[in-house]
Amino acid sequence: MEVSGRSCPFCLIAAGNADRRLAYEDEEIVAFEDINPQAPHHLLIVPRKHMQSLLEIEEEDAALVGRLVLVANRIARDRGIDLSGFRLVVNCNPDGGQTVYHLHLHLLGGRRMGWPPG
Ligand code: 5GP
Ligand code: ZN
Repeated sequence: MEVSGRSCPFCLIAAGNADRRLAYEDEEIVAFEDINPQAPHHLLIVPRKHMQSLLEIEEEDAALVGRLVLVANRIARDRGIDLSGFRLVVNCNPDGGQTVYHLHLHLLGGRRMGWPPG
């Protein structure tokens, strides 16, 4: 698995080394459209810090992880999908459906979601 840097696609995007427009950025977090959207709104909210998955979050990352949710709320409000509703998803490891091993939140909205998830 990746550690970080040149071979991690989300590290490349966060560093501005990929041809991808950012929907949001600050010192710690970037957000951008998923390349294979599963809903009318499908953004990925990504800490610039490379963590492979939920399982790598340490106590010192708690505020950063909380800010990922605040950024998701902000984007949902900006896009007018806050009241209609949206879903935040974090896939962890193979059974969770994780394919990119750099921690990220999926923000999905603009359609009615099903439950249980696939
Ligand atoms: P995961 O399966 O790890 O939860 O989610 C990875 C997501 O990243 C997938 O929805 C996939 O479409 C998206 N993705 C993978 N590579 C890229 C990329 O290079 N750029 C963007 N914008 N999305 C990507
Ligand atoms: Zn990375």
